[in-house]
Amino acid sequence: MPESQLTPARRAARRRRVERRRRRAVATATATLSACIMIVAGAVMTANANARDADPQASGSAPAEVVAETPEPTATPTPTPTPTASDTPDDAEPFCTDEVTAAIDSGDAEAVVVAAGGGQAFRDAVVDGRADDCISLGHPAWDWVVVNKQRPLDPIDYAPEVVVPQTFSPIGAHFDEAAAQALDALVVGARDAGAGEIGLESGYRSYETQVESYNAQVVLRGGTDGADRTSARPGYSEHQLGLAADLVACEGQQCGTIYEFGDTVQGAWVAENAWRYGWIVRYESGTTDITGYEPEPWHLRYVGVELATAYTEGGYSTYEEFWELPAAPGYE
Ligand SMILES: [Zn+2]
Repeated sequence: MPESQLTPARRAARRRRVERRRRRAVATATATLSACIMIVAGAVMTANANARDADPQASGSAPAEVVAETPEPTATPTPTPTPTASDTPDDAEPFCTDEVTAAIDSGDAEAVVVAAGGGQAFRDAVVDGRADDCISLGHPAWDWVVVNKQRPLDPIDYAPEVVVPQTFSPIGAHFDEAAAQALDALVVGARDAGAGEIGLESGYRSYETQVESYNAQVVLRGGTDGADRTSARPGYSEHQLGLAADLVACEGQQCGTIYEFGDTVQGAWVAENAWRYGWIVRYESGTTDITGYEPEPWHLRYVGVELATAYTEGGYSTYEEFWELPAAPGYE
């Protein structure tokens, strides 16, 4: 079918696929080029699946591993819901199925990823543009959201609807509910593994709290350049999502600082095992050029078990690379 007869969404998806393939072919891919695939914040979270794409027979269970590198065939896709030989693999595997949109309606992020066929299938569909009709990496209410120095929260003063307290936190930190449960499980897991006690330095921080925290860093480090290397500006922090935790190692009532955490038994255990509980170490050493932050072995980001598993099994060390997003070394 000629491009002019495709729906706008499908036309855009095709353009994105072409652009992505072009980018892979360019060895010196730069942030300028990859900016083309930035997924726009606040895009659709709608329940009405594109009826044409919602093939109930496919129900989100088809594996998507083969999709990304398959060359675009010369034959054009047909708009019929039944896959045919002339379909591209992208079109043959509709993402926003009834099952996925029902999970979206439930508000349960992990259920959405499961309905999509698991962490790897979900990630592949998002990267490939097939999930654009129902998934946005910019929506702050979902566990998969990407926030960095190029991707502020939208709205900038976003606050989660619900945050719940951690019982073991010495500072009374709060989290998104799923993240709170996952952190409890992680702390118990470390204890059961003989890796010692883990405490919390920081959990959910509101926009207003981040204003104070960032300003304190500016004073402490003699300016914004120093502060930007260790602290997010207000509206750019994962802590504002309720999905980030700064951990410390404890013994009895005594806890160390976040800066010591990476060298503790607890820190080593977390680096190895956090993903099993849905958390990733967000700022690993050697990734400052991409994340914009110095290594922070204490800062964990909750993404859910499915995505954390795909992230770890895929050998990723930055969340930006996992989603094939541009590096975010600094603010614009
Ligand atoms: Zn942190």
